[in-house]
Amino acid sequence: MRIGVMGGTFDPIHLGHLVAASEVAHRFELDEVVFVPTGQPWQKSHRSVAPAEDRYLMTVIATAADPRFRVSRVDVDRPGPTYTVDTLRDLRAELGDHDYYFITGADALADILSWRDTDEVLRGAHLIGVTRPGHALVDPGLVPGRISLLEIPALSISSSDVRARVERGAPVSYLVSPGVESYLLKRELYREST
Ligand code: ATP
Ligand code: MG
Repeated sequence: MRIGVMGGTFDPIHLGHLVAASEVAHRFELDEVVFVPTGQPWQKSHRSVAPAEDRYLMTVIATAADPRFRVSRVDVDRPGPTYTVDTLRDLRAELGDHDYYFITGADALADILSWRDTDEVLRGAHLIGVTRPGHALVDPGLVPGRISLLEIPALSISSSDVRARVERGAPVSYLVSPGVESYLLKRELYREST
């Protein structure tokens, strides 16, 4: 099987994440895309992040209707900071030996040199970098043939902006899926800056 892996904090998951996964699934003829919410996010420790269980549930809600999408708990259930190399190792143990395609936006791709064990990551998966408004999509040129760049429909949506909107009472409809909007309002997430 050809399996996409969409890692993220998903705090909260928004339509930009879903479009990226859907487009890569189509273009790379993936059988499925696994969304993997992070546990304790190592690069975001300067701010508090919504509880992993809430981020996980919102990811399930947002992806439930699409038969290509599933959600894995490997990062949520592993204690300590999340590293992509562990995500891929655990997914392989859970799902078996398949062709893995790790999907990342242009901003996250630009950070790749700060990832742990980049060589092992690139041995374990193809990396698909996708366009994201406001960020240049550049091939970091680490391992020829292991990284592909893909233009996807531009959605200028970020979780940071969704959180800021919720905090000031601005609308988030059409930025997040309806179930996610209901959930974050019900749970009173992002109501005050933390
Ligand atoms: P935050 O603002 O909190 O950093 P985010 O919107 O960047 O949130 P993340 O969970 O950090 O969301 O991102 C997960 C992955 O999805 C990253 O690879 C990121 O580059 C990608 N991504 C997020 N939003 C978009 C978007 N609008 N278009 C394309 N890729 C995106
Ligand atoms: Mg981000």
